[in-house]
This record gives sequence, C-alpha cells and structure tokens, in this order.
Amino acid sequence: MTANLKPTVSGSNQVSGTKMVGMEKRRAVHALLFVALLPITAVEAAPEAQVTPLVVTHARLVDGRGGLPLDDATIVITGDRFSAVGPSGQVPIPEGAEVLDAKGRVVIPGLIDAHIHVSWPQVPLDPPVPNRSQAAFRAADLLRRCLLNGITTVRDVASIEDVGFAAKRAFQEGRLEGSRPIVCGQGVSSTGGHGTESNTQGLVMEVDGPDGFRRGVRTQLKAGADLIKVLCPFSREEILAAVEEVHLHEKFVTVHPSLFKAQYDFLRWTVEAGADCFEHAYAVPDDLIPRIAEKRMYCVPTLSILLILGDQYEQRGPDWAWKVKKYRECKEIFQKLRKAGVRMAVGTDAVAENMSEYPGLFFKETEQFAALGCSPMDVIVAATRLGAEVSDAADQLGTIEPGKLADLLILDKDPLVDIRNLRTAQVIVQGGKVIKR
Ligand SMILES: [Zn+2]
Repeated sequence: MTANLKPTVSGSNQVSGTKMVGMEKRRAVHALLFVALLPITAVEAAPEAQVTPLVVTHARLVDGRGGLPLDDATIVITGDRFSAVGPSGQVPIPEGAEVLDAKGRVVIPGLIDAHIHVSWPQVPLDPPVPNRSQAAFRAADLLRRCLLNGITTVRDVASIEDVGFAAKRAFQEGRLEGSRPIVCGQGVSSTGGHGTESNTQGLVMEVDGPDGFRRGVRTQLKAGADLIKVLCPFSREEILAAVEEVHLHEKFVTVHPSLFKAQYDFLRWTVEAGADCFEHAYAVPDDLIPRIAEKRMYCVPTLSILLILGDQYEQRGPDWAWKVKKYRECKEIFQKLRKAGVRMAVGTDAVAENMSEYPGLFFKETEQFAALGCSPMDVIVAATRLGAEVSDAADQLGTIEPGKLADLLILDKDPLVDIRNLRTAQVIVQGGKVIKR
C-alpha cells in the first residue's frame, strides 16, 4: 500500500498498478491479509481538477528523474494527471485545450518538503501549547503558504493529536487550498521521550515496551497514517518491534534516532531493524555509513534549521559550545553520506522560531545541498522525486510522467544554472489545477 492519495473507488484498498519491486512486492503479498484490518479511507478526491485539458508547450523540461533536460517539451494534463509528455511537435495537443506557452522557461515537478510539522507553534505569535483548533488553523495557513511558493506536497512527520489527519481530509475534500499533506499522525515515542517536551504536547503518542510500540504503530495506521515516524529514546527491542509492525502492514517507517549527543545506539538499532529512512543527519558514526548505504536507507538531513539554530546557540556563550560543535559536524556527515550514495531528500523541520522563515527555509535547504556539493540536478531530484519516495508516494508524485498527479512549476529562470532560481515559480499547477500564474 502506498500513500492513499486518490484511490479511484471510495473505501477501496487498491494496490497501485505500477511495476512492483522490492518492498512493493512484499506489500502486495501481505495486502490481502490486511485488507480487513485497514481503516476504510473515505473518498480521497484531490481539489477539483480542470475539465479542459491543460497543455504546457515549448518548455525546457526537468522531469525530476535526474536525466538530461528536454528542451522544447510539451506536457499534456488531463483531469488531475499528466497524460502525455514529450518533444513539442510529437505530442498531439487535445482540441479545446488551454495552452500555456513556456518558451524560455523551465518546468519542474512540484516541490516536496519531506520534513514538516504543520501544527507546530509559531512563537512568539502562539501560546507554547496550542489547542487543536488553533493548531488546525495554523496548519491551514502554513499549507497555503507552502503551495503559493511551489511546495505542492508536504510530508508531515508528527502533528498535534489528529490535526495532520484533519488537514489531509480537508485537502482531499477540496476544502483546503494548500500543499498536499502526507501524514504520519502522531509520532510514536516512549514515555517522556522526544516530542513530549513542554512545547510539543500531543505531538507524539507515548508508549513503552515492544508491545506498546506495536500498539502505537497500529493506532496511527488505524487513524489513517500514510507512514509511521518513531522517535528516540527506545530500546533495541522496542525499535525492532515497531519497524517489524510497520512492515507487516506494508507501510514506510522513518525514525528520529538521536538528539545531539552521541546516542549512536539508537541509529545503530534503527539500521539493524531495517527502517526505511532516518531523519536529521546530526549524529551518524562513520562505521555505520556503509551499512546505511548497503541497506538502501533514505535520510532527510534537515540541515538548514540546524545551522540557523547553531548560529543562535553560538551567541549564547560557552555553555552551548558542544551543541554548536554538533551543528557544525552535520555538514561533514552530510558529505560522508552523500559520497556513500545515501539518498537524501529535502526537508526543513521548520519549527518554532524558524517557522516565520517558512517557506524561505525550504529554498535555503536546497541551497545548502548545493553548497555541500550536490549538482543542481541532484538538488532538484532531492526536492521532488526523493521527497515522493520518502513519502511512500513515488507511484503518484515526484516526477513529470504520464499517469502521475499533475504537479508542476513553470520557473522564470533556470535552476540548473543557479539553484536559487527554484524561487522563481511563475505558474504553479497542483493536481491539474492552476493555482497561481
Ligand atoms: Zn521534526
């Protein structure tokens, strides 16, 4: 099962028709066993798609797959999906279509922020512990700002109580114009663990013991989680049980394995457990990097917020020195992971005081990837296709290919020349609907 973005039949649990590999195959085998246990997902309609076909012509196309750009491409959108993509002149333009001439401009897939918390407090505007209603309005505001800047999908890795689920439902019902939320619900953490700090009440479900972690996973899946997030601290037995439980349900699991001190065992056990991804490249021991690469684990490094906080902590004096040192190390860790071939997606972890910088923080993150040695093409892939992969939605999102949901940006300037040009979206299309031009 992949993220339930838009099943064609209400309440069905269809397996995608795309070619199945690896985990997907395992999923298909188990799918039948678990259909009865899975929650009924109600009608998951995207915002109203255009009836008139939409065609973008003469674009320089960077499709998110990482290959060479296609100069002078034509992209046809029928309903909420891409229906044809190819060189202009070879792709027929449907009669009556609305045509956008993108000559001299660059088309890329909609951007994906792979690490966000839609309901986090925005200090100093909000009280430290918001209630659910405040959190819901905040989520709506944030998602709208994301969309208007070209971030057509976000991966919400823990929100207060049921706010993530509510945001997803509102989007699917067409009541929320904003970035498409792919959600984990609450994170799963131990009693008093990460995510239970005073300003994050309700962000995680507190559980203990292997059975408790299994219950946490099942509870979030029952409520409609697209993926599962587990946060440290946990015992080896607890993370092994949690990851096994998620995979038993054919879902994707990501782990926040350590804080800033050398709590390496959390990541070691996470790798051993076979988790699909880990968040924050803050504390990764050298000897573990080849194992992470070998296991094909993903990482969402969330560099920018770390560096911003590092600057702030530096100003607070010597007591914060160890934390500043950790912040500085993250750049080295990123480069080691990259050289080892670990696939990393762009995610901001925009929280608290840095939320006001959103969505500028997203672009800062892409620029940080580039500054640390990624080519512009690699950065675009990290901000699109890999974002879809870590959202467990690669069969629906992340690239411009026939059959996928039609999310694209028409950029005024070429991001392959300068990655800062990702900020120049002139037209934003989400699910076939023109949001901004
Ligand atoms: Zn986070």
